[in-house]
Amino acid sequence: MTLDGKVALVTGGSRGIGAATALKLAEEGADVALTYQHNDDLAADIGDRIKALGRRALVIRADSADADAVKGAVEATVAEFGRLDVLVNNAGIGFVGPLEATSMDDVDRVLAVNVRGVFAATQAAAAHLGEGGRVITIGSCVAERVPGPGMTLYAVSKTAMIGLTKGLARELGPRGITVNLVQPGPTDTDLNPADGPYAADQRALTVFDRYGQPAEVASMVAHLASPASGYVTAATVSVDGGHAA
Ligand code: NDP
Repeated sequence: MTLDGKVALVTGGSRGIGAATALKLAEEGADVALTYQHNDDLAADIGDRIKALGRRALVIRADSADADAVKGAVEATVAEFGRLDVLVNNAGIGFVGPLEATSMDDVDRVLAVNVRGVFAATQAAAAHLGEGGRVITIGSCVAERVPGPGMTLYAVSKTAMIGLTKGLARELGPRGITVNLVQPGPTDTDLNPADGPYAADQRALTVFDRYGQPAEVASMVAHLASPASGYVTAATVSVDGGHAA
C-alpha cells in the first residue's frame, strides 16, 4: 500500500469518479474525507465502505459553490485526522447548451462549482499540506478537444484547471508539494452515462470505441498521489481512451 498513514480529501466523493477515487485511496491505505452536496445516503455508504477497508472516513456535506463550506470541509478534515496530505478536486457539474441559450446565471453556477470552489479548496488545503503533499484536480478531455457545439461554458471551466495546475505547481513546488491535473474522457457516471443521449458520439471519438470506468480514472489519481510520482508536477494527464488523438 502506497498511502499508509496519509490523509486525503476528495470533493464530490459520493458518486462517480469521486466515489471510485475515495475508495481507491482508502484501498491504498489513506484515511479519507469526502464532500457531497445532495445524496446523504450515497455519501454515507461510501464512508461505510472506506471504514470496511479498515480506514477512517469523514463524510461532509459541503456545496462546492459555497467557498466557506469548502474551506470548512478542509478544516474539518484536519480537525478529525490531524493532517492533510492529498486534496482531490473532483466535484464538478456539467453544462451543455448553445451560446445564445446560456444565461449569466448558468455562467456563474458552472464557474462557482468548477473553478471558484476548486480555488477555495486548494487555497485552504495548501495551508495544511506539507512535504510530499499532493493536489490533484479532475479536469476534462474537453480542455484538449471540444467534441461538438454546446460545450463552450463547460470547456471554459475545465480549461481554467490547466492554469490553476501550472500556477500552483510553481507556488507549492518549493514546499515539496506536487500539483497535477487528470483529464478524463467520457466516463460512465450519472453525469455522463454510457447509455445517455450524447454517448454514441463521445464513444466514437475514443480509440477503443468505449466509455471509461470511474475506477480507471481513480487508479491514475492514486498513482499521482503515491510517493512514486514525486517528480511529476504541473502535468496534465489524459485518461481519455485516446479522445484527444
Ligand atoms: P457525477 O455527477 O457522477 O458525480 C458528481 C459528484 O460530485 C457527486 O458526488 C456529487 O454529490 C458531487 N457534487 C456535485 N456538485 C457538487 C457541489 N456543488 N458541491 C459538492 N459536491 C458536488 O460526476 P462525475 O463523477 O462524472 O464527474 C466528476 C468530475 O469529473 C467532474 O469534475 C466532471 O466535470 C469530471 N469529468 C467527468 C467526465 C465524465 O464523462 N463523467 C469526463 C470528464 C470530466 P451529490 O451526490 O451530493 O450530488
